[in-house]
Amino acid sequence: MIEREQLEMDVVFVGAGPANLAAALHLKNQIKEHNTLVERGLHHGRKVEDLEIGIIEKGSTVGAHILSGAVIDPIALRELMPDFLEQGCPVDSVVTEDAFWYLTEKRKIQSPITPPPLKNKGKYIASLSRICEWLAEKCEEAGVNIFPEFPGAEMLYDENERVIGVRTGDKGIDKDGKPKPNFEPGVDLLAKVTVLGEGSRGSLTKQLMQRLDLHEDKEPQVFSLGVKELWEVPAGNIEEGRVIHTLGFPSDAKTYGGGWIYGMKNNIVSIGYVTGLDYLDPMIDPHAEFQKFKTHPDVAKILAGGKMLKYGAKAINAGGYYTMPQLCADGVLLVGDSASFLNGQRIKGIHTAMKSGMLAAETIINAFDHNDFTSKTLRHYEEKVNSSWIYDELFAVRNFHASFQRGRWSALVNSSLQFLTGGLAWGFMPREHHIAGHERMEKLDKYNYNGDALRQRYPDLKFDKDLTFDKVTNVFHAGVSHNEDQPSHLHILDTEICATRCAEEYGNPCQRFCPAAVYEMEENSKTGRREIKVNFSNCVHCKTCDIADPYQIINWVTPEGGGGPNYKGM
Ligand SMILES: Cc1cc2nc3c(=O)[nH]c(=O)nc-3n(C[C@H](O)[C@H](O)[C@H](O)COP(=O)(O)OP(=O)(O)OC[C@H]3O[C@@H](n4cnc5c(N)ncnc54)[C@H](O)[C@@H]3O)c2cc1C
Repeated sequence: MIEREQLEMDVVFVGAGPANLAAALHLKNQIKEHNTLVERGLHHGRKVEDLEIGIIEKGSTVGAHILSGAVIDPIALRELMPDFLEQGCPVDSVVTEDAFWYLTEKRKIQSPITPPPLKNKGKYIASLSRICEWLAEKCEEAGVNIFPEFPGAEMLYDENERVIGVRTGDKGIDKDGKPKPNFEPGVDLLAKVTVLGEGSRGSLTKQLMQRLDLHEDKEPQVFSLGVKELWEVPAGNIEEGRVIHTLGFPSDAKTYGGGWIYGMKNNIVSIGYVTGLDYLDPMIDPHAEFQKFKTHPDVAKILAGGKMLKYGAKAINAGGYYTMPQLCADGVLLVGDSASFLNGQRIKGIHTAMKSGMLAAETIINAFDHNDFTSKTLRHYEEKVNSSWIYDELFAVRNFHASFQRGRWSALVNSSLQFLTGGLAWGFMPREHHIAGHERMEKLDKYNYNGDALRQRYPDLKFDKDLTFDKVTNVFHAGVSHNEDQPSHLHILDTEICATRCAEEYGNPCQRFCPAAVYEMEENSKTGRREIKVNFSNCVHCKTCDIADPYQIINWVTPEGGGGPNYKGM
């Protein structure tokens, strides 16, 4: 039995993303505001003592695991800190021009009007990783404790299934599970309220939702994978402030996908491609889709003569309103992408993540005011969400992603109808139904592949290490590091399935959907059988394997704190 230190706090936030950083800062500000109102007799509650607030983050620093586009709608930032620019918020550029391209293999058709959801003029292009670093400084100045290198490994419950905090991961366990000389057991952080802001497919959020059935009666979540590179290009290739979104090439019409190209300061370009993780063909490889996207003549022209600086990949919650879980339970609240607050039509989730965090903070003050941390008080959070602009924004696009599950052309007609009718599916039906991606993937026998199926899917794709890169080269540019002498954090619950059924039925799609070359089928020299090999140290923490595996036998858990990618500046 390991003896663990217990640390008592009032509120513990898991994950230092925009949702939780905004929440913690707002909480500190709201305590002051609440107490002033009580002092002046304008609020009949009681004063709230200054709270002990902690944020734990699995990355080596705040921002190390933050990956986004990012064009930021500043609506929530402005509510959090009206003078955010004067206070030094590190936005990169103001969007000066929007473009929407439909791409065929060799040509582009520039839409004469930018679809309203993709109009970004006046918004900000930024590195979200940098913004989070800055927000963390503001939190620390306000007295919030931030603990990088501390992954939340397990939720803690009392005998009534009430959440009472979180256990952080152990350090110094070797690959066979034995303690090393530097062994440090994880700490039990006890809190009256725990807030999960782990981003897309949070590992604790997944545990919690399963244990407390928070997804009961909701539609299954659907995800996309965003693969991104940062480039430095010769002056003149793209203007600072130019924002381009694309549809079409290289995705086929049955696959949800689209690209972005953002012109930043100093000739830096943020470029990426999003592939729906609800694709049908098991040979699809989202990393290859992105590499192919860059070979389009109009895209390649922007990158010509440039140099790739950084790489990253991360899953995105695409389901929106109908796929939101229950947002609270006794002692716990869910914010940001963990709770499906992203607007899939705009591919924007930073503003909604921040606002959800701020509403969670206001709910927490109320809970301390009433000294009640059960769902009776915490459920006011759901009411606050539903009476805020988050509801207006997400409800209007509630059928967006599900309509793409019928294919691109029908979805484009449908999206226009949704726009005109305030979100009705097909202009009259109340809703479309989402199908989980892993249930949509089709078996190989539906396709006419023979021999090297991957080559047939991507016949012309070469990794020239100039414009296009293989996964291993890309992973190097993600700055990934994990101590190799630790147990793998990618748990395959039944490796026999990989060697038999999955090989036959789907051709082991993990080798393709993982954008970091973690999974390989390797011949066992004794048995001659091809078996799964997991290169866990390559993992960029995108969570795709946990999401897309058709048998749902890959379980992503947090590795030793500090391991993973380094997305500083991405
Ligand atoms: C490729 C891509 C492009 C995007 N482009 C845009 C865009 O242009 N504009 C826009 O508005 N939105 C964009 N989004 C969406 C946006 O980035 C997210 O909606 C937003 O970052 C969600 O914030 P969050 O705080 O919920 O989670 P995240 O930003 O994911 O932050 C979660 C944090 O929690 C940490 N964490 C997770 N689990 C644990 C744990 N168990 N213990 C400790 N720490 C943990 C993570 O390391 C991370 O630091 C994009 C997303 C992607 C992936």
